[in-house]
Amino acid sequence: MAPDPRFRSPWQSPLFVRWVAFARAVLSGLPGREDRFIDRLVTDQNARVRDFLAGRPARKVLLIMPRCVKMTGCRAAVQESLEECLACRRCPLGDVAHLCRDHGVKALVAFRSHIAFEMARTEQPDVIIASACRDRMIKALRSTPDHPALLAPLTGMRKMCLDAGLDMVWLKQQLEFVAPPAEAPDAPATPAARELPADDAPLRAAQGS
Ligand code: SF4
Repeated sequence: MAPDPRFRSPWQSPLFVRWVAFARAVLSGLPGREDRFIDRLVTDQNARVRDFLAGRPARKVLLIMPRCVKMTGCRAAVQESLEECLACRRCPLGDVAHLCRDHGVKALVAFRSHIAFEMARTEQPDVIIASACRDRMIKALRSTPDHPALLAPLTGMRKMCLDAGLDMVWLKQQLEFVAPPAEAPDAPATPAARELPADDAPLRAAQGS
């Protein structure tokens, strides 16, 4: 299924993309300002995606995680399946595997950004849920502007691109919004009936507010 043409976002405008690039260049010399700017853009986009999904429950959800979440030294082939992670749980991908199993959602780990974008195009989900560093989030918004995507920054890293953390509370909230577990008692039929925070808690935390 192709992306729903009714989903509208400023990221579909080349002018907006150029404006973001210009603003980032200006803010890059000011400590923390560029991060806060990106967090604002992501919060706005997430709100847009939730509004869009409120009237159209997602049938196909794709969760994309970056490879830096995988524990250093682990040999599991997580780009193919999180099956091994179900029994392991030594890094956040174990919790991701359990959440996705409970919600009946397909999770993929992308080893490169362009692979993640290709996954989005070939899988054609109704919504993507993903965590990434800020630079990659902007790249995702630029590269797949027609795909509704709920995004959150990684919560930290042991070293550059190694052993990154995920906000599991945020992730669980998004999954409950777009794919409530079938067995949940009295689960509202549509995402519109579900309550979510007005904005993104992890972004607020990242901003230190
Ligand atoms: S949960 Fe275990 S098997 Fe899965 S990536 Fe992490 S360390 Fe490897």
